[in-house]
Amino acid sequence: MENNDHIYADYNSTTPISENVKKSIIEVLSKQALNPSSLHKKGQEARKILQDARDNVRRFIVVQNDKEVVFTSGATEANNLVMKGIKGYQHIISAIEHPSIINSACNAHIIPVNQDGVINLIELEKILTKFKEDRMLVSVIMANNETGVIQPLKEIAELAHKFGAICHTDAAQCVGKIEVNMEDLKVDLLTLSAHKFGGIAGSGVLIFDKKLAIEPIITGGGQEKGLRGGTENIVAIAALSAALQDIPDLISKTNEIKVLRDQLEHELLNFTNEVKIFGQSSNRLPNTSFIYMPGVKSDVQLMHFDLNNIAVSIGSACSSGKVEPSHVLLAMGATKEQAECSIRVSIGTKTKEQDIKKIVNCWCDLYRTNKVSNTLSISHL
Ligand code: PMP
Repeated sequence: MENNDHIYADYNSTTPISENVKKSIIEVLSKQALNPSSLHKKGQEARKILQDARDNVRRFIVVQNDKEVVFTSGATEANNLVMKGIKGYQHIISAIEHPSIINSACNAHIIPVNQDGVINLIELEKILTKFKEDRMLVSVIMANNETGVIQPLKEIAELAHKFGAICHTDAAQCVGKIEVNMEDLKVDLLTLSAHKFGGIAGSGVLIFDKKLAIEPIITGGGQEKGLRGGTENIVAIAALSAALQDIPDLISKTNEIKVLRDQLEHELLNFTNEVKIFGQSSNRLPNTSFIYMPGVKSDVQLMHFDLNNIAVSIGSACSSGKVEPSHVLLAMGATKEQAECSIRVSIGTKTKEQDIKKIVNCWCDLYRTNKVSNTLSISHL
């Protein structure tokens, strides 16, 4: 990033913006006074930006004409729209969903995951069988934000459809890291978040099958086909549109990123057999590593990294500042201690080999210091 001494390894939290995105933001800002609902020429100009962005969603996420594209304030709102705007359905969600699904679902039936972080299809089938007389909505995160574990979504959607259920996926973490092709996935609804793939925060998308009846959760002036009241954030949407165009470039770099991520894990595993990488044997996002260090709380680890100018995360960013054991790790059968003593390293396009070395050194230093202080405190007993 800008500061050469600083290492940013928190790409799953948010991503830096590209030159292309920066240019589009400045361009739209300089046009000024753009409200797509206005009937005059400036309004038309704004509508064109909106239409181009919608076309780019269709093009880069492979969305057919039987689907609708609605802009929201982010993935949180898109997920809320799914869980609250579709009425009268049994909610079936995985145990490792993002809080925006967990907290907006109603009396949800939970699909467990195995120790590798992959959902149990047999359990899903059992739930689907139990509620087959009802209308059912299955929502499974495409790749988990903490572990990076990717779910077998095609199979999940197929199974859901076999039982007449509809299927939603939160693909917020996937765009720009792995291919996201809505047509191929066969899901009925899909959530995106712009700032996870080079756009800016405060902008997201819900794509859904036109046959579905969805009621708005934010009512107002009828924007976004009545599904999302409020003047569209045209600057953020233009940034999202530009970021979508960067996807092929991002995808072309994922192999290099994976090599660096694997190198990080390899070096830590060589250093001590006490380290644990969650979901290591699963199909994972190429940039994500959720790492356990015995006996050192995740906030202590985070501070140690921060003092060394390295940004990492304690799983999902929590704005309350409260550090709680990761529900994702607990669902995978990790102990409370493991869930409290793990950090997420998520790298990206600007990460270099020397950054990985520094991250490894920083981790190993803390591990050693903790060992020494444990030994000293035991010898004082
Ligand atoms: N879903 C997932 C999987 C996420 O990682 C995030 C962001 N941490 C969200 C939803 C929320 O996205 P937004 O910040 O756009 O509301």
